Amino acid sequence: MNDFKGKVALVTGASRGIGRAIAVALARGGASLALNFAGNEAAAQEALKLVTAVGAPRAKLYKFDVADPGACGKAVDEVVAEFGALHILVNNAGIAIDQLLMRLKDEDWKRQLDVNLTGAFNLTRAVSRPMMKARGGAIVNLSSVVGEMGNAGQVAYAASKAGLIGLTKSVARELASRNIRCNAVTPGFIDTDMTSALPEAARAKLLESIPLARLGSAEDVANAVCFLASDQAAYVTGEVLKVNGGMYM
Ligand code: NAP
Repeated sequence: MNDFKGKVALVTGASRGIGRAIAVALARGGASLALNFAGNEAAAQEALKLVTAVGAPRAKLYKFDVADPGACGKAVDEVVAEFGALHILVNNAGIAIDQLLMRLKDEDWKRQLDVNLTGAFNLTRAVSRPMMKARGGAIVNLSSVVGEMGNAGQVAYAASKAGLIGLTKSVARELASRNIRCNAVTPGFIDTDMTSALPEAARAKLLESIPLARLGSAEDVANAVCFLASDQAAYVTGEVLKVNGGMYM
């Protein structure tokens, strides 16, 4: 198990799915957790209970929209003031509004870019100051297999996730001299609320394209994120780690 004793982590979109699994895994390793969510209070309270139950020394909920730069700056300041440090940022919050290109509305294109890509920029910029002052930090971004291979009906989502890869590599180069690492994971199809609406026929077809012949679990992704966030990955930066059961190599 990774050792996160004495570490403070901010995980966005930590109320459900992959974000919640990441928060629980970090807490199990001994990290204190700042848990961001957008609006689902009940799920956020459940996540808070879970991270506390597995041993987070401290944990607190932070409700804000990652697309709002002011709110991101304020939240990071609060986390540093309340926890005394910020060692790990996981940019996990994300949305998918699937639509064919010709029918994709301006506002739906913009919202996916604002949440998935600008959200990660907002928080990465905000944490860079305290991490630079502390001479170290680890940032992990949740991209997607779709950002690597594209997907019909997901033009905006795929563009946002491909953008995250460029952001990850640029931040890795820019902040390496301050011992701040920045990496991304590209999950394939993971069993969460985001993929639950998939019709049975589409799900069966999808499984045929996955060599490991199953959807991934949130824990599969959390394991990869925890590795990249941990000191075991001390010499890994600018990496894009596939967690996709082999569906794209
Ligand atoms: P999910 O189950 O839909 O959960 C999304 C999480 O993001 C929730 O905690 C939600 O908060 C939060 N969120 C949404 N918009 C937000 C905003 N504007 N500000 C702050 N928080 C916001 O999603 P998931 O499947 O766990 O996916 C997590 C990440 O992995 C996403 O970035 C997604 O694109 C990526 N990913 C997922 C898959 C997959 O197959 N599931 C594959 C590749 C990549 P509330 O609970 O408050 O709504």
